[in-house]
Amino acid sequence: MSDGTAISGKESFALYGFHIEIPDNWRVEVNQKGTRQKGDVVFQSKGGNRIFVSWGPLDQATRRFKTLEEHRDNSVKQIEKSPDVKAVDVRESREEMIGGHRALITHVSASVKAGMLSKAANDRDMWSMHFYCPNTSRYYVLYSMLRDANEFPDFSRVFITISRSMTCHRGLSIESELQ
Ligand SMILES: [Zn+2]
Repeated sequence: MSDGTAISGKESFALYGFHIEIPDNWRVEVNQKGTRQKGDVVFQSKGGNRIFVSWGPLDQATRRFKTLEEHRDNSVKQIEKSPDVKAVDVRESREEMIGGHRALITHVSASVKAGMLSKAANDRDMWSMHFYCPNTSRYYVLYSMLRDANEFPDFSRVFITISRSMTCHRGLSIESELQ
């Protein structure tokens, strides 16, 4: 990071063969029911902003979805189905390469219904990254849950920086990077 605003200190986190760099003052919560095959872990900032890393068997994903885009669209639909969400707007979706695999980074804005406690409806920004790792036969979905929008000047940068640091399999070679 050149400006140092997104992430201060970095710390390595590794579990079941994947590796990711997170800010060194964030909390880590591993889902106790998770396994090597399927699970999730959440990284939480002081302000309660969270980034989830979830994984599962790749064949489960490819049986259900023809493309990575379909998988992503399904995740967006899940957000739409949440009871407090009024509408969902896909603001941006772009491709990146993670560990030599095509990845989709998506920014969704959900307008949330006014509830008992909140007077007005407001927008909730979410970021996600979907990709498949055939080397480990897993799919990966990273996504964010924003609680305090003012904690970081640009949370999308935080999400993208952390997502890009993901190493999904061992023996990453130049060949696989270039695929
Ligand atoms: Zn991989």
